[in-house]
Amino acid sequence: MTRPPGGRRGARSLPPRELPWPEVLARLTTYYQVGLWRVPYLKAHAEDPFQVLVATVLSQRTRDETTDRVAAELFEAYPTPEALARAPPARLRRILRPVGFYATKARGIRALSQLLLSRHGGAVPRELEALLALPMVGRKTANCTLVFGFGIPAIPVDTHVHRLANRLGAVRTRTPEETEEALRRRVPQELWVPLNPLLVQHGQNVCLPRGPRCERCPLVDLCETGEAFLGNKEAKAPRTVKVRAR
Ligand code: SF4
Repeated sequence: MTRPPGGRRGARSLPPRELPWPEVLARLTTYYQVGLWRVPYLKAHAEDPFQVLVATVLSQRTRDETTDRVAAELFEAYPTPEALARAPPARLRRILRPVGFYATKARGIRALSQLLLSRHGGAVPRELEALLALPMVGRKTANCTLVFGFGIPAIPVDTHVHRLANRLGAVRTRTPEETEEALRRRVPQELWVPLNPLLVQHGQNVCLPRGPRCERCPLVDLCETGEAFLGNKEAKAPRTVKVRAR
């Protein structure tokens, strides 16, 4: 990705803005507590680091609904590294067929399970570097495993988090890696765990890739793009109301 996603025109020359992150996350928590929104698919596998790790690999370039369905069938048959390491490759490919790059992923998660057994005694490592050394595991997958599998503070940056952080004006970055680094410096560590699921929900439901719905956003007065939206509305509104004399 070469251009920053969203954000105001010309804003890249400005310094990133300091956001009141506790307030940002508190508002999103309130907004999404109403129960109308689907929860991130990883919640179904939370507290099992192995299933979080494998489900996140499956989710790459795949819709959440498909990941949900395939992960459920996969873990029904092969819930542990021991079971998955011995799974017949043809059956794995059949189960994974609906997800993107299913053949590569089928080979990858089997190799990953074998490595967990040979290097880590069948446990998922809790350190970022050890996770990154596993096949099919990049920074987003490793950080998701830390957050959703172990509750360890980390900041997984996917396309939603990258876009939202730039639109808010909190970062001026071109890649998810730059966004992760910038957010790690700016967001208090005690907020890292809820940061990803809240921003992802917001990116899926309100701050959409094409056409953010700023008019219904609880962050509109804190957000750089939202301020521009409010400014435009004011500019278009009549400044005076003419009252006809009787
Ligand atoms: S006001 Fe809300 S919806 Fe609009 S760009 Fe900002 S975060 Fe996204």
